[in-house]
Amino acid sequence: MLTCKETTELLSKEADEGLNLRESLDMRLHILMCSACRNYRSNVQFLRRACRSAATPDQSPDAAPKDAR
Ligand SMILES: [Zn+2]
Repeated sequence: MLTCKETTELLSKEADEGLNLRESLDMRLHILMCSACRNYRSNVQFLRRACRSAATPDQSPDAAPKDAR
């Protein structure tokens, strides 16, 4: 069983370079049982998505005005 610290390290590694099968299974198992790391993971994914859409502002769904009066 991983500690929360090890799990957060694996989560950033997953985002950067990916995990091997063993690391991925250990990380998922911990996340199933630990809501703190589950929240951390969705924050990481949200931030990465936000960074990506900030880098490509043309694809932002809120860029076009809904009411052009
Ligand atoms: Zn945890």
